[in-house]
Amino acid sequence: MLLNLTCHGPHAADFSYLLHKAPASVNIIELPFGEAVVFYPLIEEQKLTCSMLIDIDPLTMAKGEARFSGLFDYLSDRPYAATSFMSVAIARVFGTALSGRCQNRPEVVTQKLSLQADIFMLRCGHLEYLNSIFEPLGYETNFEIFPVDKEFPKLGRSPYVNLTIKGEVTLQDLLRHLYVLIPVFDGRKHYWIGRDEVEKLLRHGQGWLSEHPQRGHIARRYLSRLNQLTNMALGRLDNGESGARELEPEPGTSAEPPEKLSLNRLRLEVVLAELKASGVTSVLDFGCGEGKLLRRLLREKQFERVAGLDVSLLTLKRAEAGLLRVFKTIPPRLELLHGAMTYKDQRLKGFTAVVCQEVIEHLDPWRRPAMEKIVFEYIGAKVVVVTTPNREYNVNYFSLKDQLRHRDHRFEWDRQEFGKWAASVAQTYGYTVRLSGIGDLDESAGQPTQIGVFSQC
Ligand code: SAH
Repeated sequence: MLLNLTCHGPHAADFSYLLHKAPASVNIIELPFGEAVVFYPLIEEQKLTCSMLIDIDPLTMAKGEARFSGLFDYLSDRPYAATSFMSVAIARVFGTALSGRCQNRPEVVTQKLSLQADIFMLRCGHLEYLNSIFEPLGYETNFEIFPVDKEFPKLGRSPYVNLTIKGEVTLQDLLRHLYVLIPVFDGRKHYWIGRDEVEKLLRHGQGWLSEHPQRGHIARRYLSRLNQLTNMALGRLDNGESGARELEPEPGTSAEPPEKLSLNRLRLEVVLAELKASGVTSVLDFGCGEGKLLRRLLREKQFERVAGLDVSLLTLKRAEAGLLRVFKTIPPRLELLHGAMTYKDQRLKGFTAVVCQEVIEHLDPWRRPAMEKIVFEYIGAKVVVVTTPNREYNVNYFSLKDQLRHRDHRFEWDRQEFGKWAASVAQTYGYTVRLSGIGDLDESAGQPTQIGVFSQC
């Protein structure tokens, strides 16, 4: 994935100051999904080009979280095409320029410069669309197109283009335009789309989006066609709000880490909040995976005994390695247990809370009664927290079509099915249950994650 930014004319010498990247060095910046290499392939008195080469590791992504695996099949275009990954990289690598700050050249920040951006491999089905988006912003566009296969001209044009835009704009505006518009062309965001995304759109759309003739289209595509969020954004633009309500990031901090929006992260926070509020002091995390919840639990003094159990030894080893990286030694109050949640095991006794986070759907339905007996009877925990996907919400995942969210899922429940199961185990084993959802609300499909908090009667 490659982006070139070029400044022409007398301000070329100021350009590297505005970007906060020294021309003489090669900068390597770590990203949540790989790394960005920033360097200057062309340094002339009247012309300076800065390149950002983004290297994504598709194998890690494919093996990683479920939300990525749909995007990262091995034949995916994700590592090469200009997508939301590039927007995140722009915010991370050029965060200070994006927020319009430069201590060394403050007077140039607000000046219109002669700027050019070359965006390689931008997905664009209709070429006239490029002009309708960039011309109203004052850019001249040029693009290079390619055949799908030179040997087979009948296959026609590839949907990817190398796009060059040129205009007299401030660097901040150019970066804002790229940040918002690259995902608009691509149409598939790699991270969780929540309400914060509306704030980002309004913040980076400040000064240009409300007047753009294609603003409805831009908002809708930027917000992954989620009607509720699009209406919210357009409503605020119509009411004359051109900026975000959120505060600008503090100087020196990089803008919006994508983790902030991830459903996994949100789920962890909700589960943790439930455990903290319930007052329990020991927690057993069934199907603990790579130990993300364990790490969070160990940061809280309330939890005097913490255990993670997983059927996969390899996963447990990864959890152990992750914990060692964070805590240097395995804390004495933590136990990592290799086992299955469907068998009686003395080591499981005495925990006041059990968590089954995104694990029940990995069990074959015929094993479920055994698991229920262990979780709700054998352990006898005061509190049991169960989370599982809401199948209805899958309509919002562009890449899923009719599939489940993860290839190891044996089933996914809709809200009615989960509610029925929860009520039945609660009644059988003497618990009350409170059901709710986690994540962005789709009016007809609900929220992406379902959660049941069971309390012993
Ligand atoms: N709870 C973690 C991981 C969810 S993935 C999280 O929310 O991030 C599901 C995990 O359940 C995997 O690590 C898998 O190895 C584990 N698992 C599947 N069947 C299991 C069983 N019968 N007993 C224990 N763990 C199981």
